[in-house]
Amino acid sequence: MEILLADIPEDGLHIDGSFPKAIFDLSEDDSIRPVSDVFYDADVYKFEDAVVFSGRLQGKFQLQCARCLEYFEYDADFNWSSDLDLEKKQYSFDLKEIVREDFLLELPSSPMCDEMVEGKVCEKADLIDRIAASDEREDEDSGDGRDVWGALDDFGKEN
Ligand SMILES: [Zn+2]
Repeated sequence: MEILLADIPEDGLHIDGSFPKAIFDLSEDDSIRPVSDVFYDADVYKFEDAVVFSGRLQGKFQLQCARCLEYFEYDADFNWSSDLDLEKKQYSFDLKEIVREDFLLELPSSPMCDEMVEGKVCEKADLIDRIAASDEREDEDSGDGRDVWGALDDFGKEN
């Protein structure tokens, strides 16, 4: 959606609306899956060499947990505050591209499902915790370690 710089008045332009999730054009196995239209609601201000957006971005996504690789639901709702630097002869910009890029920038880059979904247990994190806990238990049991070395010593003598 092309917005002409000439159409932005001195005291700013209010824009609101939505774009279909197809604007993201991501592959199925990308760690980000948009699942709804995305919504924008902002004031746009024009300066000599930049355009500034100030408002809100919203949309529903599935994000892939960086640990267990499962997808979980994520409702994006960002304060949208962004600058677009203008080229010398630029007379317009594509709002769709700005919205797309700003969502991708704002979405968490290595999300953990159990940190972002209340009450969710990340199975991978749970497993790592259990392995760590069982290692600690073995360390506490100091008798075992010596016996292993003792057995190795005996083995050496016999040969
Ligand atoms: Zn997880």
